[in-house]
Amino acid sequence: MSDLDFQSVLVFCPHPDDAEFLCGGSMAKWASEGKEINVVIVTDGSAGHNDPDVDIRWLVETRREEQRAASEILGVKDVIFLGYRDGYVEDSHELRRDMIREIRRHKPDLVVGLDPTTYYFAQRYINHPDHRKVGEAFLAAVNPGATTVPLYREELFDQGFGPHRIKLCLLGFTTSPDYFVDITEFMDAKIAAISAHDSQMKNMDAVATIGNRVKEMGQMVAQASSQNYQYAEGFKLFNFQRDEDAET
Ligand SMILES: [Zn+2]
Repeated sequence: MSDLDFQSVLVFCPHPDDAEFLCGGSMAKWASEGKEINVVIVTDGSAGHNDPDVDIRWLVETRREEQRAASEILGVKDVIFLGYRDGYVEDSHELRRDMIREIRRHKPDLVVGLDPTTYYFAQRYINHPDHRKVGEAFLAAVNPGATTVPLYREELFDQGFGPHRIKLCLLGFTTSPDYFVDITEFMDAKIAAISAHDSQMKNMDAVATIGNRVKEMGQMVAQASSQNYQYAEGFKLFNFQRDEDAET
């Protein structure tokens, strides 16, 4: 499989810890290759605890710290928190505008988001609505948002956020992956980064269980890739450079 040509990556995820599950191994690999990676977390993570008496401000701040710690393990440069309320995300113009602003600010070659068409996986998981809504807004931000001057012009173009042409886009949490990253050497980093989200781990057993589950998933994806990988992460790929070549 031919490797993609990019130097900078911007990852958009709804909740603290999604980025690690989605592409933790890939991020660790890309960072080891000297690529610049930044992560945008859309919500505040305030629904990430079922204790009715939990201090929400403590929870939000704790989850930010955990996200920063996880990102550091993987070699991510910066984390941006958009602060939307966890569990209530809509594909709004406000969210699209905020995502476009981050794309135009960071000017990534590659963007990573979630597949909004995923309602469920097999018989075991119904997708979180925030994942679908953030995925929907993400696609709108990638196209036409990133390159179209009139969209949200007063808040973006007129404020110095000019159009940016993205080269590549990957969608994770997808049921139809067509691009695979060999993360065999980076599985330990992925699990360590997931485990940094301490507030989401009930105890040490949970850490071990999640580690095993993440390995299982990595193996399943590796098998789906038909490559000789032990562990992989799978995505749906869009390569806009092909269009550019064809246009000329
Ligand atoms: Zn999530």
